[in-house]
Amino acid sequence: MRLGLFGGTFNPIHLGHLRAAVEVREAFKLDRLLLIPSAYPPHKRAGHVADAEDRLEMVRLAIQGETSLEVSDVELARPGLSYTIETLRHFKDRFGPESDIHFIVGDDAFSEITTWKSYQELFSAAHFIVMTRPGSTLRGLEDFIHTQISADYQYDPASRRYTHPEWHNISCLDITHLDISSTKIRECVKQGRPIRFLVPDSVESLIAKKGLYR
Ligand code: ATP
Ligand code: MG
Repeated sequence: MRLGLFGGTFNPIHLGHLRAAVEVREAFKLDRLLLIPSAYPPHKRAGHVADAEDRLEMVRLAIQGETSLEVSDVELARPGLSYTIETLRHFKDRFGPESDIHFIVGDDAFSEITTWKSYQELFSAAHFIVMTRPGSTLRGLEDFIHTQISADYQYDPASRRYTHPEWHNISCLDITHLDISSTKIRECVKQGRPIRFLVPDSVESLIAKKGLYR
């Protein structure tokens, strides 16, 4: 089974995340794609992050009726900070060694991966799909992979994939990058400006109903 895992703070989830998920799922022919909100993101300042339960609920609402996307609460079910390496181990145990796990990440988040717990081990646990913006230069990424992850990764331009003799692949995919961020949405809400068409209507309603990000 080809499984896609898309982790994030989703504070809140927005159409940039959702469109990206749909495009990755199609391009990599994933059988399942799980959105995984982090409970306690190690790199985000507390106080700026809505309750995990609310963020989970917003993801749930956002994908309602969209059968190709699912939500997972594994990181909420686990105590302590949310480390991706533990999430990858969880899904490997759950789906068995034959499952083909792909972790999905934007190039901005990928460029900070050396700060993640046991970051080199991530690449022996799962394939990575790095979502790039059309036209973004790959040179920087290639240098980054070779200096920070492993010099043994070899790039194949035809498939836009880095392969490694022992570890999993790192693939690049140009996606429709909508210039939307959760930061921008939180700022809009705080300033009383509309967030319509940046997030699904159901998410907009929940933010209003619960008074999030004011
Ligand atoms: P914040 O502004 O709070 O950092 P964010 O919009 O970047 O929020 P995150 O939850 O931090 O959202 O991101 C989760 C994942 O989604 C990351 O891998 C990030 O690169 C990716 N991502 C964020 N925004 C977009 C977007 N507009 N299009 C595609 N991918 C995105
Ligand atoms: Mg971010």
